[in-house]
Amino acid sequence: MFDLTAYNTFGLHVYSKDGLIVRCVEDLSKIRDDKFIILGKGSDVLLTDDYDGTVLIDEIKDLEISEEQDSFLVKAGGGIVLDDLIAKLVSQNIGGLENLSAIPGTVGAAPVQNIGAYGVEIGNFIESVEFVDLLSLRKGCFNREQCDFGYRSSYFKKNPQQKLFITSVNMRFSKGFNPCLTYKGLQDEDLLTYADIRNRVIALRRKKLPDPKVVGNAGSFFKNPIVEQAVLDKLKNEYADLPVYAAEDGKFKLAAGWLIDKSNCRGITHGNAGTWEHQALVLVNRGEARPHEIVALAKYIQAEVKTKFDIFLEPEVRVFGKDGELKWSQL
Ligand SMILES: Cc1cc2nc3c(=O)[nH]c(=O)nc-3n(C[C@H](O)[C@H](O)[C@H](O)COP(=O)(O)OP(=O)(O)OC[C@H]3O[C@@H](n4cnc5c(N)ncnc54)[C@H](O)[C@@H]3O)c2cc1C
Repeated sequence: MFDLTAYNTFGLHVYSKDGLIVRCVEDLSKIRDDKFIILGKGSDVLLTDDYDGTVLIDEIKDLEISEEQDSFLVKAGGGIVLDDLIAKLVSQNIGGLENLSAIPGTVGAAPVQNIGAYGVEIGNFIESVEFVDLLSLRKGCFNREQCDFGYRSSYFKKNPQQKLFITSVNMRFSKGFNPCLTYKGLQDEDLLTYADIRNRVIALRRKKLPDPKVVGNAGSFFKNPIVEQAVLDKLKNEYADLPVYAAEDGKFKLAAGWLIDKSNCRGITHGNAGTWEHQALVLVNRGEARPHEIVALAKYIQAEVKTKFDIFLEPEVRVFGKDGELKWSQL
């Protein structure tokens, strides 16, 4: 049995039949099981049961940084901790990812859900993603278009049956100071370097989000819902203070945390699971939570938000059970 407690930031005590730490591409030929899933640091997953197969852990840590006339090219191994990479880039005055500082997880997982924070998405910097197709053990590479990045979405997320193990991510960052300061908390004159922005982002996150090393959690449990104009108009009539952000295709993004808060679910506790006092969108393990307690709490929140706003909150976390990935409706 392979202990997955350290490989899921909820800190749930779950196991898999076996585990394989992948330190180089060649290690992937050691897979002996025909049933496997891939994990980085487990900061975007809910493991609902012991897994009856092999868990592949991405620990490929090669890093190459090269300089071109107007930009830097970075090829980062999938197992590198993303925040370590950002710290290194910022220390070399290479900007672009500083707004994503302190997001837990690996480089390899970052394109899967096109991680984003404070106005920046990683997909904007990705030139290509290299992978091994685990079904054929062939190497492959997708350019940005093929990655099909969207809001917390990508080709990799939409096609999990393809079993593509991301080995490295190639990113390009332009030279010069080109910060993204659209987020309210980043709009002040003291932010003069990429390091200033990184430090500010880390401070903002510390105020709002629990550190998974102290309080088990997987960040935002639900996606921010995207709605049509008609739905927005109806809600705005009733809730004038509803936070709204522009989304793609003329649609609108609502703040799931606000909806949960207004449904009286901020800071609640159900068994050993709860929602974070400072950000209702974060479900937490209040001690020795069992997977079914997190699931029950999430379903309770969905029902409360549906009743109050007639909005369905779709989970952002990926859910895995005994036989692999599950759809939320299967729980
Ligand atoms: C406190 C906290 C704050 C967070 N804040 C944010 C935020 O602001 N924005 C945001 O977007 N996310 C956020 N997250 C979510 C999470 O950190 C990211 O989604 C991160 O990219 C997950 O990385 P991981 O290595 O932990 O991936 P895991 O959780 O291990 O895996 C996530 C998914 O990616 C797949 N995967 C992992 N590695 C690979 C690989 N090498 N090849 C192919 N597939 C792979 C897994 O199979 C799984 O489906 C937060 C999480 C926490 C706990």
